[in-house]
Amino acid sequence: MTEVPRRIVIVGGGLSGLSAAYYVRKYYREAGVTPEIVIVEKEARLGGKIETLEKEGFVIEKGPDSYLARKSVMTELAKELGLEQELVTTNPNAKKTYILQKGKLHPMPAGLVLGVPTELRPFLRSGLVSLGGKLRAMMDFVLPPRRSKDDEPLGELIERRLGSEVLENITEPLLAGIYAGDMRKISLQATFPQFGEVERKYGSLIRGMTTGRKPAETHTGTKKSAFLTFRRGLGSLVNALIRDLHDVEQRTGTAVSAIKRLDAAVPAGMPASRYAVELDSGEVLPADDIYVTVQNFIAADLLRPHVDVSALDRVNYVSVANVVLAFEKKDIVSEYDGSGFLVPRKENRNITASTWTSTKWLHTSPDDKVLLRCYVGRAGDEQNVALPDDALTELVRKDLREIMGITATPKFAEITRLKSSMPQYPVGHMQNIAALRGELSQKLPGVYAFGAGYDGIGMPDCIKQAKETAEAAAHAL
Ligand SMILES: Cc1cc2nc3c(=O)[nH]c(=O)nc-3n(C[C@H](O)[C@H](O)[C@H](O)COP(=O)(O)OP(=O)(O)OC[C@H]3O[C@@H](n4cnc5c(N)ncnc54)[C@H](O)[C@@H]3O)c2cc1C
Repeated sequence: MTEVPRRIVIVGGGLSGLSAAYYVRKYYREAGVTPEIVIVEKEARLGGKIETLEKEGFVIEKGPDSYLARKSVMTELAKELGLEQELVTTNPNAKKTYILQKGKLHPMPAGLVLGVPTELRPFLRSGLVSLGGKLRAMMDFVLPPRRSKDDEPLGELIERRLGSEVLENITEPLLAGIYAGDMRKISLQATFPQFGEVERKYGSLIRGMTTGRKPAETHTGTKKSAFLTFRRGLGSLVNALIRDLHDVEQRTGTAVSAIKRLDAAVPAGMPASRYAVELDSGEVLPADDIYVTVQNFIAADLLRPHVDVSALDRVNYVSVANVVLAFEKKDIVSEYDGSGFLVPRKENRNITASTWTSTKWLHTSPDDKVLLRCYVGRAGDEQNVALPDDALTELVRKDLREIMGITATPKFAEITRLKSSMPQYPVGHMQNIAALRGELSQKLPGVYAFGAGYDGIGMPDCIKQAKETAEAAAHAL
């Protein structure tokens, strides 16, 4: 008897979807099952947020630009795909990061771990926080810890331990850079649960983070690069996955419009399957398992007829824009001895952060050129993202002129608007998602939902979710 392949539909062809296809193929085969996989991607291009542009000798990232090296699942995948030789580290001479404070750039004090000071002398000398703010931060050593394990806003914990000045001037710009979020709203447990654990265990964030500190986590004097990317950009990973998945059907330019249960009798001649996946082209794909990796607000519409999707509805998405400017080096008078700067909310600027890309990542630019990447938009401040290109470029240039003294005209500006791209995990998110998954397993067995809006926003988090989901599904076959 010939084996009937198990039909898998993967909804969304971003990194979560592509890596899901990769691991489904691997783990299902290991479980003795032949998967017949179809990836369905709405856009003409696979890769989702990841997009690299090679232009005039520059390597320009239109979405993410690197990943956290300590999240090794991405390096492991890169190695399996033969990309090990392509991995590049940050420039060891550009470790410094600056933070804007009253219009001036201040180096981030040495010893900050995720925005928490673990070396007191540099923190106490820093111009980023007033004397009163520093004394308030030292209260962390004596204030009683919160014992409850219940979720709370991330900013509330930082403010309780270190005071509002450290929160607003240091921690918020640093951590909000990852989520473009409002620290007073996003969930502690879904973002940095270690802060809560440290507070409970050590009674002090500073003491706990100092004890648990690994050299690679500080912002100075590290031997290892904290971030990695690929010599020709993150698009290399997407391209390698696409090549490797040559035996997987990759359907682009068509969206999934509905998921239906096939409870009714299966028409004669059609193999039995649990679900029908409807495409906007009118086509219907039979599926035994479905991996839903699209943004939460789209997943919610697909799953709403079957389960309670309030866990997905509660995750707002923030829009951001990424404005990359290229210059002739000779036209730039500013000194770049770091990786860029962060802008606290209360500075009231148009840009939220700037990466000095050509200094931080030496592979990205010809030697006689400078590449800067500026971010616009964050939670509660998204209106500039929709401005026309010229107006947006002008706002960014105004900030660069006032902060860094850059008056030169850029060779070109490359603007990417990432509408509704940054998921904001609300307080209670982890429990909400666990409840959703519990209901999915009851009502839609074989349907899995994960990606940036669920268990971690970084690219390695997306790969990890895909890997763990596929592995668990394969075990259950
Ligand atoms: C500006 C920015 C900077 C970032 N920087 C970093 C960084 O430096 N490092 C890092 O680790 N992470 C970074 N991230 C996060 C990271 O890029 C994302 O979390 C990750 O790429 C998300 O992958 P995904 O596959 O889950 O989602 P997506 O990339 O959003 O993929 C979802 C896909 O589903 C498709 N789709 C939508 N609806 C349908 C439908 N109905 N049918 C079929 N397909 C559909 C979409 O077109 C899309 O391709 C950044 C994100 C942004 C926005």
